[in-house]
Amino acid sequence: MDQIPSRPPAFEFSGGNLALDFVNTWGDRARPGTDQLGSFQRLVDFAQEAGLVDVGQARAYLTTARWDADSASAVLRAARRFRKSLYGLFSSLVRGAAAEPEDLARANRAIRSAFPNLEIRTLGEDLVWASNGSPPRLDSLVWPIIRSAAQLLTSPDVGLVHECEAADCTWLFLDRSRTGQRRWCSMASCGNRAKARRHYQRQRNA
Ligand SMILES: [Zn+2]
Repeated sequence: MDQIPSRPPAFEFSGGNLALDFVNTWGDRARPGTDQLGSFQRLVDFAQEAGLVDVGQARAYLTTARWDADSASAVLRAARRFRKSLYGLFSSLVRGAAAEPEDLARANRAIRSAFPNLEIRTLGEDLVWASNGSPPRLDSLVWPIIRSAAQLLTSPDVGLVHECEAADCTWLFLDRSRTGQRRWCSMASCGNRAKARRHYQRQRNA
């Protein structure tokens, strides 16, 4: 009988923004085991699940990565460093603190690498952002994420960014709720756990 290969969990997209969902690929920064970007393949998976590349493009990236493994690991390392600086920038905004110069410098390096290589192209009846190189450069996978981050960081919407209140979760999300009082990254995970904890405590106190 065929063995079903165990697949890593699918990425979650509950941040309400591509850049935040990318930051959330590391669930809790105190626990390295919750980092979901462990390989270049996972970066491609994220891009595909986020709708940045289709199946054929994902395969092309992986083929290129196979014969240029050094570049693939360098791109993964850079993506993870960029993610760290993004978390730093957004979480200081959430706390009302000034941006760390190191985070800003790193984000700007990413922006300088991405923007000269982006252009808009027609896709059906729409205009979409695309990379201007072919065959695909491995680092172009991250360019749309860099663009989305730069856009959000400088938009009024950045005031809607919150960090999940659960102690073991560092997810960021855009709070577009009417009351603006969303506390959890998702009701399904952290919200429910908090509810269960409150329920348990109430039972114990009773
Ligand atoms: Zn959470």
